[in-house]
Amino acid sequence: MGIIAVQYLEDSQNISPEDARKKLHTAFDTLPISKVIVGWNLAHGLVEACAEECARFDAELYRWQPLLTSDAVFVPKPEWLTIGLDREPVIHWGEPAFTFACPNHPDVRDRITARLQEIIEQEIYHGVFLDRIRFPSPMAAPMQELSCFCAHCRRVAQTQDLDLVAMERSISRLFHSPEQVFELVRLLLGGRPTGAHDETIGDLDAFLRFRIHSINGLVEAASAIIRDSSLAVGLDCFSPSLAHAVGQNIPALMPHADWTKIMSYGHTLGIAGLPYELSGLAAWMIGYLGLSEARVYRFLSDLTGLFLPSTTTELCETGIPSAGLAHEAAVAPTDNLYAGIELVDLDRFTVLNDAQITSDMRAFKSSGVAGLLLSWDLWHIPQHRLDLVRKIWVDG
Ligand SMILES: [Zn+2]
Repeated sequence: MGIIAVQYLEDSQNISPEDARKKLHTAFDTLPISKVIVGWNLAHGLVEACAEECARFDAELYRWQPLLTSDAVFVPKPEWLTIGLDREPVIHWGEPAFTFACPNHPDVRDRITARLQEIIEQEIYHGVFLDRIRFPSPMAAPMQELSCFCAHCRRVAQTQDLDLVAMERSISRLFHSPEQVFELVRLLLGGRPTGAHDETIGDLDAFLRFRIHSINGLVEAASAIIRDSSLAVGLDCFSPSLAHAVGQNIPALMPHADWTKIMSYGHTLGIAGLPYELSGLAAWMIGYLGLSEARVYRFLSDLTGLFLPSTTTELCETGIPSAGLAHEAAVAPTDNLYAGIELVDLDRFTVLNDAQITSDMRAFKSSGVAGLLLSWDLWHIPQHRLDLVRKIWVDG
């Protein structure tokens, strides 16, 4: 049996410390939980109640901390936001939780450093779980939302002998030909170019590597601050087949952390969920290239290895097959890799049933991942789902 960790109290309104403690206590009674990751905008009494309960059950308390999006104290200023290919700030749904600051902006880096120091000084956590360590997902609108092309990125690129302005011009040209759009998607999802050497594709490749370098530098710096205080570091990463598209190279990020969770949410129709991100990309390709659904899904399925169905309707109803999720878990050495699994029924947001959860847990287990991270969050996970985790992950 691997480790079990839980995300808890992302949204804390109207929960008393006593109720929070009770729910956590019942979860501890059901499962051998060794890490509890609590959210960022919580009343001190709530965090204290969780810390006491963790101490009683010998579990570690982690702070769940978004780095590049708002945590209600760190609120990105408009001039800090990432700039897309259309020269506009990338703003997802007008939602602060998904509106990203640029990792290359010096004020952002300073503010993150100060924020981490404040958290460390509270002396209540064993570790910090770093979330939102990425660029915004460009999947549904790459012509607008592929980022970042801000002045700070330009400047940092220059120090690496990269000309971001020339790259931007090249990348914009890729949208003129259907063949090159396929190449663009291939590279975005971490594939290698298939055609003959082409300068525009080379520029895209260099740009995507620049983004990975930027995120890696951000995480390395954040991790150093946390580890300097002898706290542990956990990372929240995109699902591996999509990670490249948001500037994450998971095997390169893992050394900066004690453990890394992959958000391989196969049944979530919201940001970072595989069906949501992939159906967004498919819809864009179908509309922009005038291709059939079947053609686009075949391409995406071959590219990702996720065994995708051939329509958006089916993808959203049945999600990613368990074999696809096992494929995601094979991305990196599994020693310190945790699989995230969604266990909360949210109307129009998750499509779950016990048979699928059982099958997904078995797939993750046989892939050899070190742990399972129950998402999100424990407060909303019904008891029968915790019992199911016990039956399959612990006793199975
Ligand atoms: Zn930037």
